[in-house]
Amino acid sequence: MAVLDHKEEARLKGSPICSGIAIGSPLLFYFSEDEIPEFSIPKTEIKNEVLRYRNAIEKSRKEVVQIQKQLELDGAIEGVMIFETHLQIMKDEQITFELEAAICKKMKNAEYVFGLFIRDYERKLSMLTDEMFREKIRDVQDVASRILRNLKKSVKLSLAEVKENAIVFAKDLVPSDAAEAKKTHIGAFVTEVGGKTSHAAIIARSRGIPYVSNINLNQIDLKKGDVVIIDGRNGEVIINPTPATLSAYQALKNQLKSNLEKLSTSGNLLTETLDSYKVRLTANVEVLEELQLVHKYRGDGVGLFRSEYICLDQNRFPSEEEQFEIYKEFAKAANGLPIVIRTFDVGGDKPGDFVKINEANPFLGCRAIRYMLQNPTIFRSQLRAILRSSVYGQVKVMFPMVSGAFELLEAKALLHEEMKKLDLEGIAYDKHIKVGCMIEIPSAAITCDEFAKHCDFLSIGTNDLVQYSLAVDRGNQIMSYLYNPADPSVIRLIKMIVIEANRNGIPVSVCGEIAADPRFTALLLGLGVHELSCTARFIPIVKNTIRKISIISACQLAETILNMHSYKEIQKKLSEEYEKLVPQEVCHIVAN
Ligand code: PEP
Ligand code: MG
Repeated sequence: MAVLDHKEEARLKGSPICSGIAIGSPLLFYFSEDEIPEFSIPKTEIKNEVLRYRNAIEKSRKEVVQIQKQLELDGAIEGVMIFETHLQIMKDEQITFELEAAICKKMKNAEYVFGLFIRDYERKLSMLTDEMFREKIRDVQDVASRILRNLKKSVKLSLAEVKENAIVFAKDLVPSDAAEAKKTHIGAFVTEVGGKTSHAAIIARSRGIPYVSNINLNQIDLKKGDVVIIDGRNGEVIINPTPATLSAYQALKNQLKSNLEKLSTSGNLLTETLDSYKVRLTANVEVLEELQLVHKYRGDGVGLFRSEYICLDQNRFPSEEEQFEIYKEFAKAANGLPIVIRTFDVGGDKPGDFVKINEANPFLGCRAIRYMLQNPTIFRSQLRAILRSSVYGQVKVMFPMVSGAFELLEAKALLHEEMKKLDLEGIAYDKHIKVGCMIEIPSAAITCDEFAKHCDFLSIGTNDLVQYSLAVDRGNQIMSYLYNPADPSVIRLIKMIVIEANRNGIPVSVCGEIAADPRFTALLLGLGVHELSCTARFIPIVKNTIRKISIISACQLAETILNMHSYKEIQKKLSEEYEKLVPQEVCHIVAN
């Protein structure tokens, strides 16, 4: 494949994941096979870095012992002796001591320090006159490449401390990368793979980070000083723009910013339709700071707190006490508004380094409520922490990825047992805490009557509902042409869930990403959804849309759409209706 020469302006077209425009310089969040990465290690991580080095040595040692065993079986005794030299080098205490000291002193990653060390060692050996010692260079090189290979397998780059406005180019982003990115001011993400409702995409959206995926990184040869423009509205990546392109994009960026600011002033307005139908507009949050935006935009509370984000970048589940402190902070920061804490949704694309599940199909495996029911100690401590936090605010609890009502009942039984224990211990909690369930698996949608009987509220997780209904991995950009929330099957399932919730007199919300997409707003209201829970940043856009709709026309739209036969037809209709409602410049903000 020809590598683009981007001395001149070069344009690449990928898939738009999160809209917005970014201008900055590139940061490569991956490294090629023959490259030794170099990055800084924060003081607090030095111990782990040394441990990573030791583990790589141990792994290499085991490999060599295995090779020796095989050679012995084959009768190749000379070979066994050669590898004995390798083992001696790995065991050399002086080398280990010097290397570990160098990691601590330089505060750099183990591969980089190791690379420097080996080069120096080779240089010293080559200066020796004794032929036997010089021969040792070959062994050192062999051992070094084995250790380096093992080190690189465990390397974990971090987005925690990247330069402001950097445009991060990565092969892929896992949720913990994205969670780390929450702490910094990243300009944009560009990846080879990643779908619109992948968790990295959700985080990017919650932070307003433009994101383009489906870009072949082998096609570009980026240099440190390059200027890059990311247009998250149409998926364009522009490398080394001409002065004319650059100034056009700078102007467009400012224009979009001011459009968004204008929309954000709608805070004091009621969330209601033209004909005064009130809608609850809540937020999906992952970190505490997002509650500030909920208040700024006058959201009605938190419809989904993805609690697993408190541990995705940790190496263990937090204790009951640690969780209690965190949930208490959230409950207090909600300042009287309701907050739905969803129990850990680990597994799937959110493994967390400490959740050791080895499965061929993680999305169909031990995820969320399944993991928690199989690990009752972890589950019980989370339930206790949530219950204890409920005296500090309007806390509700919700279970994710429940496929059958029996799982809901099992989870509720554990909750009630923990309530009884707290009673005995004299610890306060809200005895009437509301319990809800996510409906995000087709089996749960189809048997929704069973769920509605046992819940105080339901929340439709369309991100997973689409994935499981259409059998398309939500993170797989290549299959994304099949991943479509406008598919008639999904719309009909939402209608079924709403009917059962209404029949049982309980509220139902939508908390998947379509709740943030204003093209779906009228349809969802028309289907009878009472509450939309979206990324806090999108509250103004969705509120602005709600205020332009009448509930009567929304019901008519829903009726029309329920009678349509293909997602293409539905998508076209939703876009047309949306464009009639809002001015062009607002459409621009959500153009993907
Ligand atoms: C969903 O599946 O729609 C949802 C909101 O949950 P998550 O995106 O965290 O899986
Ligand atoms: Mg989900």
